[in-house]
Amino acid sequence: MMWALAVICVGLILAFFVIPRLRLQRVLSRAFPSHHAKILRRYVPQYRYMPVDLQLQLKQRVKQFLFEKTFVGCNGLEITDEIRVCIAGRACLLLLNRDAQVFPKLTHILVYPDVFHAPRQQVQMGGVVTEVAHSLSGESWSDGRVILAWQEVMRSSVDDGRAHDVVIHEFAHQLDSEDGSTDGAPSLPSRRAYRDWAKVFSAEYDRLCQALEQGYQTLIDPYGASNPAEFFAVCSESYFYQADLLAHYHPELFQQLYNYYCVDPRDWK
Ligand SMILES: [Zn+2]
Repeated sequence: MMWALAVICVGLILAFFVIPRLRLQRVLSRAFPSHHAKILRRYVPQYRYMPVDLQLQLKQRVKQFLFEKTFVGCNGLEITDEIRVCIAGRACLLLLNRDAQVFPKLTHILVYPDVFHAPRQQVQMGGVVTEVAHSLSGESWSDGRVILAWQEVMRSSVDDGRAHDVVIHEFAHQLDSEDGSTDGAPSLPSRRAYRDWAKVFSAEYDRLCQALEQGYQTLIDPYGASNPAEFFAVCSESYFYQADLLAHYHPELFQQLYNYYCVDPRDWK
């Protein structure tokens, strides 16, 4: 009886821990496919200008991401290497130089051809709740899913003076939710780090809300004024696309993001 129990325990350890780890090591030891590198150069603009050591880090992260996560095409979209590597490359930008796992709670990335519609409850006059279909370019869920619209992924750029990258946005939400609450503060190393983060982010959030009330636009996407979680996500987009301007106009915010992301995109020129 005891022997049978021991055999079952060993079998479970092998099946859930040892074998997956060995398979991952084998994947990571393989060369990065040259056509995947071409996709990174085409779809991840930061990759082209970062130093070789960061490019190598990104490739390793992308290999792990592609090995561990499942992509699902929705509404007839066929998942291609282009879609997989583009999304993995942009998402893994957020992990460079950090002792971070590769989005440990995430299992599936659902990709629609274009904007998708999701039901949202709206409270009408008199307290009546109705369900309305919202058009979305991306969604992040704490149950292990990210949903993206491929056309919106490809439209990512700096437009109207502001950065838009739905992949960075939704994966910043994933980082934010890793500590159990999506509240605009990802996992930080110490109480002091949380205190500094809260002080700077709440002041900058208020600054954005006040600017919008007074009719001004700032570098930060107005959508960030929705709540602190959206504020962190849009600031992450700015950080990876407009680091120079962010450092100039919002130096304390830039410093907090630099402390967290551990890379300085100003160097990628
Ligand atoms: Zn968002």
